[in-house]
Amino acid sequence: MAILICGGAGYIGSHVNKLFAQNGYATVVYDNLSRGNREAVKWGSFIKADLADTDTLDKVFEETNIEAVVHLAAYAYVGESVTEPAKYYINNISNTLNLLEAMRRHNCDKIIFSSTCATYGIPEILPITEDMPQNPINPYGASKLMVERIFKDYARAYGLKFVVFRYFNAAGADPDGEIGENHDPETHLIPLILEAASGKRPDIKVFGTDYPTPDGSCIRDYIHVTDIAKAHLLALEYLNSDGKSEFFNLGNERGASVFEVIEAVAWITGKAFAVTAKARRDGDPPVLVGSPEKAYRVLGWKPRYSAIDDMVSHAWQWYCKQEHRGAFV
Ligand code: UDP
Repeated sequence: MAILICGGAGYIGSHVNKLFAQNGYATVVYDNLSRGNREAVKWGSFIKADLADTDTLDKVFEETNIEAVVHLAAYAYVGESVTEPAKYYINNISNTLNLLEAMRRHNCDKIIFSSTCATYGIPEILPITEDMPQNPINPYGASKLMVERIFKDYARAYGLKFVVFRYFNAAGADPDGEIGENHDPETHLIPLILEAASGKRPDIKVFGTDYPTPDGSCIRDYIHVTDIAKAHLLALEYLNSDGKSEFFNLGNERGASVFEVIEAVAWITGKAFAVTAKARRDGDPPVLVGSPEKAYRVLGWKPRYSAIDDMVSHAWQWYCKQEHRGAFV
């Protein structure tokens, strides 16, 4: 029996793969490497393929007894989704349907899926709970919400069993320093600030300083990637003990503004760097902070690294290691 991890070469997927492997599960990573890194697959076996490739998907299910699927293969840049929506709808929705159909053909009925807080749009009440309205304001969020809907319909009609996680902002890196965040292109706040701190980029740009927040910059709920990975392990145990299909927020119920994150990086790295105010980025809600109470209660999940300083210092440790081995030339 093995766990199929679609998108297991990506930032979050590689941390999920590590934790499953550490806990005695055989893993098969399936990734087209369009956004992931082969080097991040340090555990289990690896198949380089696209979810659009039905033949390869069938072969994986024929050759390996897949107990459950963890599906993290998606495009996940808010800004890009606004300028290239087709890319998001095709990859995030159509390819997920391919995967679900392959699962159906091979009688695999358990899936753990990475959705997003971007499905909530602009929340009316904070912190966000799972039962609040979902009105995404960008194609990325809309594509994930459509998949959530598909899961509900597949559960009702075909008996699919799922856990859907609505991630808030994944941050940090493996505390052992084995894997970390390595996007190309990089658009995420913390790695970009680290690049500014190390002198690799001239400044960090703050997208929007006129939001209705105390310092004018966007507020997000940052959550350590290893804590996110732990939730996936608990979700598998939950589904294996007949837990019913559910949606869970994965956040810390603690918001940090862009300026606060910049301050944390300056403090942890001890570096001075330039900060430039810019216009708002399309598709960004002002504040996203989630209640993780349901995941605590139902899954027994408890984040271990909930301080932004822990996330930044693990990310910095990873960044320095990459820089040292010449990964950024
Ligand atoms: N952000 C910023 N400058 C950057 C990158 C991001 O001000 O160079 C802001 C962005 O507008 C958002 C927050 O930082 O409010 C987190 O953005 P990120 O892209 O890391 O994650 P997202 O919230 O889009 O998933």
